[in-house]
Amino acid sequence: MARKWYLILLLIICSFTLLISSESKTQQTTAVNFIGHLQTLAVDKIDKDTGRMKGGFIHYIKAEDGKIYQIEDKKGILGKIKPSSKISLSGIMRKNKIVADSVIQLSTKKSALSADESTPETIGEQKTLVALFNYPDKSSEPFTIQDVQNCVINNANSVDNFIRENSYDKTWLNADFIDWHTLPNNSTYYDNDDYTDLLLNDSITILDPEINFQNYTRLIFVYADSGASYGTVGKRYLSSSGDGDFNASVSWINADYMAANKTKTIAHEFGHNLGFYHANVVHNSNNPYFVTESLADPTAMCGTQYYNYGDFDDTMGSGDYNHFSTIWKTQAQWIDASQIQDVKTSGEYPLDQVEFPSDGIKVLRVPLGKDLNNNEFYYWIEYRKNLGTFDDEDTVQIRTKLAATGANEWGYDTKWSNNK
Ligand SMILES: [Zn+2]
Repeated sequence: MARKWYLILLLIICSFTLLISSESKTQQTTAVNFIGHLQTLAVDKIDKDTGRMKGGFIHYIKAEDGKIYQIEDKKGILGKIKPSSKISLSGIMRKNKIVADSVIQLSTKKSALSADESTPETIGEQKTLVALFNYPDKSSEPFTIQDVQNCVINNANSVDNFIRENSYDKTWLNADFIDWHTLPNNSTYYDNDDYTDLLLNDSITILDPEINFQNYTRLIFVYADSGASYGTVGKRYLSSSGDGDFNASVSWINADYMAANKTKTIAHEFGHNLGFYHANVVHNSNNPYFVTESLADPTAMCGTQYYNYGDFDDTMGSGDYNHFSTIWKTQAQWIDASQIQDVKTSGEYPLDQVEFPSDGIKVLRVPLGKDLNNNEFYYWIEYRKNLGTFDDEDTVQIRTKLAATGANEWGYDTKWSNNK
């Protein structure tokens, strides 16, 4: 009798297991559609094997119920969507990630415009909160708040001066600084896939009693821990229990990076916050002017190599603390259409230096036809001079960028041997 019961019990368990397994299989392949805001996060870290910068971008949707889901964009369909836009996303839910199949942009974000609905958020004063955090198990203070103030505001090469010079004084930081706070959890608590959200939530919560987050559109949080640095591409919809919903960009600055190259790291993440992606390079060791196999797909290599971050002449690359390229400056509306000349025939065309304000042409664009999304794209030609605080050589630089919003720019490396 006992044996019979045992068999029945086994059968019940097996059926139940089958039921659960078929349910979870159903869940693994459930078709989903979400409406929400696109969030894009830039990841900047050093590859332990090569010592090179290794980074990328992670996309999320903040659904209307407030939940955030990571998106796998294997088809590359999110590239045409502006950061923070409201989207309708269809795909398959797999292990809490949405494998994207199709996306519709429902609106360009209103937040792109300031209160008067006419000024882009990359123009004018950027009300910035800079705060320093450590952990109960890592309570060191590797630098002082004065050091950080110097990097962000006071030094000649501060992030503020960098943004002012790049934007021809159209954009600047107005920053408040908060001294070291210890987060409520040990560093190990944050060491998982939700690293950035866990840090951000605890950081906002700990500052909430003393900060009105409605006063800020840029958050720069510095953490005393090893790891990567991150920046939101554009702004993100956030909230605090004390101040309600607010809209701000976020930079997570790693203290190790602060020590190595602190000001440029903040400026690089701030570039992401302004909506910029990465500055890569196409390189050929035998012929520096070698053109990539496909202009529309620089990663399709034929005798060339494509290096992420390899454009050392743009702060969105991994090299020097130089000006942003004219591609990003145009996107930020620091250079307007009147200073861009499209060149379709051979001839002599005067080109002004990039570094200082002037009335002449800042960019020559040579049309290259249609990219893979059937949009026009161009060679962008600019003239760097040894002028100002951040550029130090005379050189003509050539870059291109696919028309898609979420695309890196890439340049031709004409002086690789010097950079290697
Ligand atoms: Zn980056």
